[in-house]
This record gives sequence, C-alpha cells and structure tokens, in this order.
Amino acid sequence: MSTLQLDRRRFLKSVAMATATAAAHESFAATTNNVSLPLLDPQVSDPPSIDGVTWDKAPCRFCGTGCHVMVGTKDNRVVAVAGDRHAPVNKGLLCVKGYHVGSILYGKDRLTKPLLKTDTGYKVISWDEAIQVIAKRVTRNPKGFAIYGSGQWTIPEGYACQKFIKGGLSNNHIDPNARLCMASAVTGFIGTYGVDEPAGCYDDLDAANVIITWGNNPAEMHPVLFSRFIDRRSRGEKVTLIDIGTRRTRTTELADHYLCFNPHTDLAIANGIMHQLIANDTYDKSFVEQFCNFRKQIDPNKPTLKGVPSTFDAFKQAVSEYTPKRVEEISGVPAEKIVLLGKLFGQRDLRITSLWCMGMNQHSAGTMINNLVHSVHLLSGHFGKPGDAPTSLTGQPSACGTAREVGTLAHALPGGRLVAKDAHRHETEDLWNLPRGRMNPKPGYHTVKMWESICTPTNEPGGDVDTIWVQVTNPGQTLPNLHKLFDRKADLKDKFLIVSDVYPTATTQLADLILPSALWVEKNGIFGNSERRTQQWFRQVTPPGEARDDCWQVIAVARALFEMGFEGMRDKDGQFLFHPQSQDEKGNEVPIWQWEHYYDKVNVDKTIFEEYRKFSRLKHKDLAPYDEYVKARGLRWPVVEQADGTWRETGFRFSGFDDPYV
Ligand code: SF4
Repeated sequence: MSTLQLDRRRFLKSVAMATATAAAHESFAATTNNVSLPLLDPQVSDPPSIDGVTWDKAPCRFCGTGCHVMVGTKDNRVVAVAGDRHAPVNKGLLCVKGYHVGSILYGKDRLTKPLLKTDTGYKVISWDEAIQVIAKRVTRNPKGFAIYGSGQWTIPEGYACQKFIKGGLSNNHIDPNARLCMASAVTGFIGTYGVDEPAGCYDDLDAANVIITWGNNPAEMHPVLFSRFIDRRSRGEKVTLIDIGTRRTRTTELADHYLCFNPHTDLAIANGIMHQLIANDTYDKSFVEQFCNFRKQIDPNKPTLKGVPSTFDAFKQAVSEYTPKRVEEISGVPAEKIVLLGKLFGQRDLRITSLWCMGMNQHSAGTMINNLVHSVHLLSGHFGKPGDAPTSLTGQPSACGTAREVGTLAHALPGGRLVAKDAHRHETEDLWNLPRGRMNPKPGYHTVKMWESICTPTNEPGGDVDTIWVQVTNPGQTLPNLHKLFDRKADLKDKFLIVSDVYPTATTQLADLILPSALWVEKNGIFGNSERRTQQWFRQVTPPGEARDDCWQVIAVARALFEMGFEGMRDKDGQFLFHPQSQDEKGNEVPIWQWEHYYDKVNVDKTIFEEYRKFSRLKHKDLAPYDEYVKARGLRWPVVEQADGTWRETGFRFSGFDDPYV
C-alpha cells in the first residue's frame, strides 16, 4: 500500500465517509432484494479479478468532478464498482456516492413502461403510442413545444434535443437546469475571458501552495478533489488552505485560516485584495501590461456582460476605498486577514488556486463576484501557470460538457455559438444541412420563462408554451417558487407535461405522459466534467423492462414527425434531420428510430459526436474523434492532432507552454 493511497483513505475516514458508506450500503441492500454490490478496495488490484465478472470503464454519473469507475457486470447486471486507477481525475479513489453508483440502477420502483394519464389514472401504453402522442403535441403547436433538461444529459442526448428544437422546430425553447446554478459562472468566464469554461484544471491542485475556497465546501461536495491537496499536506508538503465562507463546514476543519464574512460581502473582500495589491505595488505589472485591459460599467444598475473600456487608473480609483479597515467594517472579516490575503496574492513565488461552486454561482451578485475573483488572479498574475488558477467547479456530471459546451440553452448553439448572431446560425444551418433561414434568431424561453409560460393560460400573454418535455431532471422538486412555476400547470387542462425519467419523482406526479428511461451504463454516453474533460463509456447492461435511451426517444419522435410530413424534420435535401446519425460506416441507412436497431450496426453516440465535434473547432474547443475517447479516461479540450497522428489534450488553457492556441 503506497503512502499516497493510505493518506487519501485516512482523509476520507476523517470526514466520516466510512460511516456513510456503511449506511448507504445497507440501504442499497434493502432495496434490491439483498443483492449487494461489493465495496471493492481500489488498492487491491486493477480491477479485482472476480469469477465471471466483466469490467469496463465509465465516469461516475453523480457530480462534475468526473471520477472514473470500473464497472463490474455479470449476467446483464452491475455487480461491482471499483475506483479506476488509470483515471487521472481520481487515481483509483471514489467518494461514497461513487462507490454506490451501481446501486442506482436497481431500485424496486424503476419506471419500466410508458404511462399516459387518463381521467381515471395512468394507463400503460406502447412506445409506438407514446411517440405518436408526442408527435401530435408538436404538430398541434410546434412553436409552443419546449424541452427542459440538465447537466445530466449525456453530450449526444443534449445535442439531439438541441438539433430537434433549434433545427427541427425552429423555436429555441430548450434550457437546462444549469441555467439556475451555473449561469453566473458562465457570465463570469465570458465577461472576463470572452469564452466560457475554466482555464485551469485539477493538476493545479497538485501544484498550488495556497488553496482558497470561496463559499465552497469541497470536503463534502467534491471530496475526491479535496483529498488531492489534503493528501499532499499529509505527506509533509506545505499547502495552505484558506476557507472564506459564511458558515463553518468540514472544509473549515482542515483550513489554516477561516474568514467568516457577512453574507454578500465577499465582493468587498475581493476588492480589498486588489486594493492591497495596488497600494503595496505588488500586483504583477508585467502580466497586467501584456495580457489585461480594464473595463467598467456605465450604469452599475444596468450592468452589461463586458462593460466598456476603462483604464488602470480608473480601476485603481474604484478599489481605493476598500482599505482593510473598510473591508472589515463591511464584511466582518478582521483587517489583518484581508492584509494576509493581499500579501499572499502579492507573492510571485507562490502558486494560488481559488475554488468555488454554488456559493458564488448562486450568489445574488454572482456574475460580479465571479468577475472579481478572476480579476484578483489576473491582477496578481496568479494565472496560467500550474497551481495558479481561478476554478469554478460544477455540480452535475455534464453541466460543462452538455449544458455549456453543447449549448443546450435557449440562447446558445453548440461550440459557443449564439442563436442571435446571423453568422453563427448560418454556420449551424450549414453543418446541419438546413435551408438558410430555418433557424430562429430569437432566443427561446429560459428556464423561468419556460415554466412561467406553461403555468399561464394559453390565451393569456406569455402562455404560448403548451408542452414541455422534461428529461434527466426533476423540476417539480427543484424549481424556485414551485407554486408559481410548476403547481399551477395542474389546473390548465390544455397544457401537457412529458417526463422521461428512471424513477417516479415530484415531476412525474404532474406528468401527462411518463416515459421510462435508460440510466448510466444502461446506455452509451459521453460526459464533460469541470476541467474540460470529455469522457466516453459504452452500454454495459440493458435497461429494465421497456426503458429506453433518452436520445432514442428524441430521434423516434423526430422520425414520426418526418413520416407525418413535418417540414422541420427534413434537411434541405429532403433527408431526415438525423440522417447523418443513421448511416453505418459503409453509408447504409440503419433505422435507428426503431428501438431494435438503435444499437444495431451504428453507434449513434459516435455519429452524433462526429457531427458535434465540427462545432468544437469553431472556437478553439477542439474535440478529438470519438475513438480517441474510447481509448482514454477522458481528454481535456482543446484536443489537437499532432504531426505523428496522435491527439494531444490541453491541461492548462491560455498558457503558452501548453495551449496550442496561445
Ligand atoms: S467525487 Fe463526484 S464523480 Fe467522484 S465519485 Fe464522488 S460523486 Fe462520483
């Protein structure tokens, strides 16, 4: 047993994970007829050899860390899970959720048949009937048909929905729940760098001397990442942990400094650090002169994403009031702690990584605090070197890969393009072989407007959405203001809610049509994690009953519409919208809209991905061919082909030593 592995294990015990593991294991056994999953020790072998068990890789489907697990299957059933020691993200370690990820497949109440609501309750219907019901809802009012998803869509699923809504229905009414959780991370990145997604990566956690958590609790929320630097400390390395938060957490227990601030005053702390850097003349002049410019808002009450050009002197003046004493008055953080932060950021020989997640991203001034923390790193030059990074972590396994990169948002297109820009729509129409003008330049309804609309009578202003198809999320539980945005739909008889899910939820309770979905390794998939890592896996067991892939469901509805003569489901040559996805390697069409052919001769994930990756090159987010991901435990984009034909990932974006586009 190596020291590293031992220490990581000790860390997990120190945060009481072992207890939680045992509890979760019992609960799993209780819901699966006492067929239990062994909790395998990743240190034993690679993976352990068990009679009759076949192993394959997959990313954990629980959080944005993107740990890889080895999945053991036997007799069409997941029977074991182990940490994947070949995975650079987690190096064999999993948290309690990862060790139990297999158990989510086997709850007794899995949905297994399509169910249609009637006056007397739900009745079982066939898939053919279900597909027809949805297709008729589309033809009844194509402009009022919306899709609502999440960062738990796989990349191909999100892409298929995106193409269906924006290329097929031309209404742009698609949004993920990531709208509610990640929006300010995205606007922070775009406002600061002009492009979304973190520049840094998890390797920063191996190189940083100082880690600062901003309203963030990785000890419990991203424990595998937390263990990565706590492990270094337990091996004798000096890693200073500074926890800036509004409440003590398990992260605080291991912090060297805890800075407790009054809610919403972290903006003053960031301004205070920048004031220190300028007042002490310790900001990185060379970095700032080479790489930074300054912008300001004209009207702080009507901020825009990028503001207007400004000057260093104006910036200096703007932060001048944030003396340590003034910041203490605002935030409650002692002035000497603000001085400490200023001194640390002023040291060129340190490497400083900031981590944040929902504390900053669901902040009442989320875009601003994101911008300010990026600005602290840029002003101090703690950027673009291993260990120097401002890094926003994601909660869902593919919030980055699907919601943000595929762009399953009402205003976005794949590859960082926007529906409102003529050139971007035209590029998309060309890549999808659509007639010019097919795509709608008006952004669709974002999450709140979409749900407001279905809760508004159709004959009233704003009530034009009459059908929402929900996949991979549970808005009946998670939307804000449920009474206004969800419950009111129950009284509106002409509104229709379709829910694809794996278990009954608060959302299925209000559904008019419930579709049973395949889950995790019951289907092929691709996720994109928090560090730009795209991760592929294959189906390893079949789904229960009549549960089917979400991606297939969308393609089947699209095909039903095509056969009804719905114009939007034809490309400009009259071919089916998903024609490129249905071609086998010899160019023969396979009827992938028929379930029995969905996994027959064509890997639909691959054909979708090969089309999608053409978008990735439009904004230097290059993805490699699908087959490269089959071989790897994920690759971080941009992934660029080398002279010898190999494909090279990029760990440190915007860094001259690593990023091919710098
Ligand atoms: S940290 Fe996240 S991705 Fe890793 S095992 Fe835990 S839940 Fe899964």
